[in-house]
Amino acid sequence: MGELRPLGRAAEAGTAEGVPTLSDARRVLRSRFGFEEFRGAQAQIIEHVLAGGDALVLMPTGGGKSLCYQVPALLRPGVAVVVSPLIALMHDQVSALRLAGVSAAYLNSTLAPEEARDVERDVLEGRVDLLYVAPERLLTPGFMALLDGVELSLFAIDEAHCVSQWGHDFRPEYIGLGVLAERYPHVPRIALTATADAATRREIVEKLHLEGARRFVSSFDRPNIFYRVVEKDDAKAQFLAFYRERHVGHAGIVYCLSRKSVDSTAAWLAKKGVDALPYHAGLPPETRREHQERFLREEGVVMVATIAFGMGIDKPDVRFVAHLDLPKSLEGYYQETGRAGRDGEAADAFMTYGLQDVVQVSRMLASGDGSEAFKRVERQKLEALLAFCETSGCRRQALLGYFGETLAEPCGHCDTCQEPVATYDGTVHAQKLLSTVVRTGQRFGAGHLIDVLLGKETERVRKFGHDRVTTYGIGTELDAHGWRSVIRQLLADGQLLPDPDGFGGLVVGPGAAAVLKGEREVVLRVDERPRRQRATRVKREARAHEPFLAEDASPEQEMLFQALRVLRTEIAREQGVPPYVVFHDRTLREMVARHPRTLDELALVQGVGETKLERYGERFLAVLREG
Ligand code: ADP
Ligand code: ZN
Repeated sequence: MGELRPLGRAAEAGTAEGVPTLSDARRVLRSRFGFEEFRGAQAQIIEHVLAGGDALVLMPTGGGKSLCYQVPALLRPGVAVVVSPLIALMHDQVSALRLAGVSAAYLNSTLAPEEARDVERDVLEGRVDLLYVAPERLLTPGFMALLDGVELSLFAIDEAHCVSQWGHDFRPEYIGLGVLAERYPHVPRIALTATADAATRREIVEKLHLEGARRFVSSFDRPNIFYRVVEKDDAKAQFLAFYRERHVGHAGIVYCLSRKSVDSTAAWLAKKGVDALPYHAGLPPETRREHQERFLREEGVVMVATIAFGMGIDKPDVRFVAHLDLPKSLEGYYQETGRAGRDGEAADAFMTYGLQDVVQVSRMLASGDGSEAFKRVERQKLEALLAFCETSGCRRQALLGYFGETLAEPCGHCDTCQEPVATYDGTVHAQKLLSTVVRTGQRFGAGHLIDVLLGKETERVRKFGHDRVTTYGIGTELDAHGWRSVIRQLLADGQLLPDPDGFGGLVVGPGAAAVLKGEREVVLRVDERPRRQRATRVKREARAHEPFLAEDASPEQEMLFQALRVLRTEIAREQGVPPYVVFHDRTLREMVARHPRTLDELALVQGVGETKLERYGERFLAVLREG
């Protein structure tokens, strides 16, 4: 790691006395982080913490939680202790801060005893402004004794939802963090999480004794993510088309349901020239580590993975997350797609979804163990997910609505907003289909039901005498594709249900009787959209919010951009950090656009702070001058 500069003990504070103000905070934001303005609630939160208040911060991934404690840590006297369960990330987080000229350090089990001793000495001697620690270390008597001997600026408790026993990230050591409240009553504590639900929130407050803390709840909307769900046809090929259209050279994650499909998809994409790597729990740990490392350190790696991948992956420039199979739930979908675009730049969530997925997920649900109550909850979650996939309204409204947040207007930045879906009165179609389900005994799957409606003379139809049911051959106004669409929509609406034993059959749901009796109207979406037209639309939209896609930049600009990326990679190697830690793509793009000639001009580019300017400014200027 780089050298530790003797900056510590709030070297940034303008005056020796008095509480630092928001304008001091802006100064630090500019000089250390190179940003012009605070985002969202950051300013309010920072002002509150600067004044010594406790805070509970709920913000989506990528919302900018870190600055909420990093800036006060640099302005308040003493060392800030940041508790984080993600040991694997500490090294990168601290390296990033040091590159920005912040005196940060970490203590965890990956350090050798003498390295740990060095850090402790630096802390005692006041040379550290931000100290990252794992919760288990914080609670040791030795560490507490160390804290007793120094001035503390604040405690930041990151990933605070780990305190919740009901969540899947529960860390028993987090419960112990409650003692901080009584032991250090005058040190502000700020708890941060991206997990939104009310039960978790209550638990955080209770276990961490944050009853008096001010709460800052941000919207969970991720405005830079474009949501798109397409009907599954050939998922791999559909993904490849999407990738070639808009994401060549970009880093992204492709989620598949099974290890087998992860392996085959990664191999297929690699053959097509995509820099794709597989990741799932069945791979040897070394392979997993190596693939994760390449994903983080290199540019443009596509990780094909099961949901085993992604937790604690803090890579801001993931440009897309694709689901080639149905995610487990809408919560899962939100978390997984949330890994795209943490840097606030345009990003895509792309899903292919088909009837087969519904059957597969229902089958897994039925065969899994767990109580009836558990399965009922899981089935409700599946229905909510299907409703999202089949909605003819705005995706973002549907997604946020599920989390109890209302978005007043359609977002204008999802597939259904940009390509409005036509709907029609599908009552007769629904009746024909539901009636066929009932008349064939509620045990057949989609394929056979469609054969009956279309009047096909298959072996099965003959064997079961289904050419004699009254709905035989009465559905020829639609083709098989059209009927599959009707089935999916009725499933999403709960009028059809996958059979509870998971054999792939369909049964009628509670709302079906009213439809069959003609008491309830069914509105369906028209699902036939010409593919060509769709492709050109996607292209135009990609241009609109990503100014430096290869196709739009002039060849000179593109070459300059690539040259800057090469320099960035070189510096990242020297420092042993991922490239985005040096500068984000956005910063490089702005350099291309503004084309600064001097250090002063370079300083005006977003993301270029004083320290980075001093250390790397000349090298970037040299490339810019050549360009
Ligand atoms: P979170 O921890 O909430 O997921 P981060 O703190 O990692 O988010 O911030 C996400 C990204 O947004 C980072 O790349 C960070 O540099 C950037 N960012 C945060 N605040 C600002 C700001 N005020 N202006 C510009 N970029 C910001
Ligand atoms: Zn929308």
